Amino acid sequence: MDNYEKNYLSKRPENLCRMCGLCCRVATTTTPYKKLKEMAAAGDKGAIDFLSVFEPYPSIDAARNVSAETVDNVIKNLKEDGNYYEEDMTFYKCKYLGDDNLCQRYNNRLLLCKHFPASPWAIVPPGCGYEGWLFMKREETKQKIRKVKEELLELQLLKKKAFSPDIQLKISAVEKKMLNTIDIHKKHGSENW
Ligand code: SF4
Ligand code: SF4
Repeated sequence: MDNYEKNYLSKRPENLCRMCGLCCRVATTTTPYKKLKEMAAAGDKGAIDFLSVFEPYPSIDAARNVSAETVDNVIKNLKEDGNYYEEDMTFYKCKYLGDDNLCQRYNNRLLLCKHFPASPWAIVPPGCGYEGWLFMKREETKQKIRKVKEELLELQLLKKKAFSPDIQLKISAVEKKMLNTIDIHKKHGSENW
């Protein structure tokens, strides 16, 4: 987990959940099921944890029968990001979710459960209590990156001046740090913000 994620999680309110149970009843991952099983067999803790609680639906339509809105929302978002490959898609239901939408192992739930939604870009079911807050966090992040881009331009102009090699090195180090900050969010489109 990087600093950005740690910072995000430390600020995430706990009281926005409406206990609809949909994130436990119709979940998915960007990693295909086959790959997840391979990763778990190779000892990957994240994959082992996920497969210890989530069981796959036999088909996308079986998950759609539980919540078509949730399935279609995931597919729509993945298509928009250019990441939708139907053959790789699996939806899952957690075996610890009770019919009352309560977690049957709440006090002993996994970190992946405690951290959900673990990023401002997490795809949450329609109507999830976190929707508005996630939108706000995404916008805040975009604003921060725009500010970094402005400062980067100023720095790059400054760099053209005839400073000593020592100062040039320091400027280059700051420039690298700024470029890294922009790069961290590349998968979410930071190049175009
Ligand atoms: S989908 Fe959102 S509101 Fe529903 S249980 Fe999950 S976190 Fe709570
Ligand atoms: S263990 Fe509990 S919190 Fe985690 S996915 Fe299952 S029902 Fe949800």
